[in-house]
Amino acid sequence: MDTKDINLSAELKKYFGFSKFKGQQELIINELLSGKDIFVLMPTGGGKSLCYQLPALISEGTAIVVSPLIALMKNQVDAVNGLSSDEGVAHVLNSSLNKTQTKQVMDDITAGKTKLLYVAPESLIKEEYVEFLKAVKISFVAIDEAHCISEWGHDFRPEYRNLKGIIDKIADVPVIALTATATPKVQDDIQKTLGMNNALVFKESFNRANLYYEIRPKVNVDKEIVRFINQHKGKSGIVYCLSRRKVEEFAQLLQVNGINALPYHAGLDQKLRVANQDKFLMEEADVIVATIAFGMGIDKPDVRFVIHYDIPKSLESYYQETGRAGRDGGEGHCLAFYDPKDIEKLEKFLAQKPVSEREIGLQLLNEVVGYAETSMSRRQYLLYYFGERFDPVTGEGALMCDNSQNPPKLKDAAQDLKKVLEM
Ligand code: ADP
Ligand code: MG
Repeated sequence: MDTKDINLSAELKKYFGFSKFKGQQELIINELLSGKDIFVLMPTGGGKSLCYQLPALISEGTAIVVSPLIALMKNQVDAVNGLSSDEGVAHVLNSSLNKTQTKQVMDDITAGKTKLLYVAPESLIKEEYVEFLKAVKISFVAIDEAHCISEWGHDFRPEYRNLKGIIDKIADVPVIALTATATPKVQDDIQKTLGMNNALVFKESFNRANLYYEIRPKVNVDKEIVRFINQHKGKSGIVYCLSRRKVEEFAQLLQVNGINALPYHAGLDQKLRVANQDKFLMEEADVIVATIAFGMGIDKPDVRFVIHYDIPKSLESYYQETGRAGRDGGEGHCLAFYDPKDIEKLEKFLAQKPVSEREIGLQLLNEVVGYAETSMSRRQYLLYYFGERFDPVTGEGALMCDNSQNPPKLKDAAQDLKKVLEM
């Protein structure tokens, strides 16, 4: 498409009501419209969706958007359809539709009404859909949450691995892959698997300067957490536990201590789970005690603390989970409890897994141990892990961690830095 004739700012205003692009959005959109493959690494909340939604709305044909979760798709489709005065420019194609609904979606695409088609990878694989999509005009393909392709990511989905072949069958169009996961290993894996080695890469900083990172030894953990929450009375917070049993026990313990807390995990009855989540979002409950099942796609801007009762299995998960604090730019305290015995337990658990999974799991765990035991700036450590340099003295948010508040012995810090650089 000839992009010179398009006034992107005017289109932004028209469809989204925003007066300015965020970060590199405009650059990204221009490059995509001019036919390039694009890879976007931007932290959660950075505004990735707009990078494909706006170009899709103004391009000829239908953009295919691959997204991993049906629930997330539905939110996005509703949001897009709320933007435009034309009715229904975004549609979903997945296993939640019946035959009549599927036919309706196909008719809309054929009629040229559909600007964005959200699909789950497992649906896209279906031969009948591939044949159908081959025959219609596709503007480009967006792969959201692209880290799902990688076993090194925190949310590996095997169905994502076949995407390249299917896209190639459907159309020869630009591909834009987007993720909030930025470890060099995951990035590499995504580019290789999607055959996007020549893609233009746009990477924004993963530094969350308003978050305070703290690790405490896991001693008297129940008491410590109760005291911490009482010091943050009335504020919203999440407590992550590894097991469902712990989630229920600890939510009860908080309740007994007069804290307005509710449990959340995938084993709870669907109705109760949704009700608890809604109560947390609507501020009827201050604290949600949850497994990692809680959080993806949830955007509560004023979460003031994220506590890890158990240390997470990877730094990637830790970053994603702590990232749910302070989305509004305000205070966000990230407190994790660390016990080497927990690591041993996780290692035992991994020992039962197939070799490749075990090896990846162990390496990810090693990196968690390094972070938990480091005496250097936690922010610097995390950002190095994402392939980003950070000055622990002058960088934004430099003082926002336990180690920077209570400077450790310099020798240790230098050794740790060497370790992380070799990672
Ligand atoms: P990500 O997918 O990177 O986590 P989203 O696409 O969900 O981020 O966007 C996060 C928030 O930023 C949304 O509420 C979105 O409406 C808002 N946003 C995106 N672009 C802009 C912009 N140019 N101006 C103002 N707000 C924006
Ligand atoms: Mg997103």
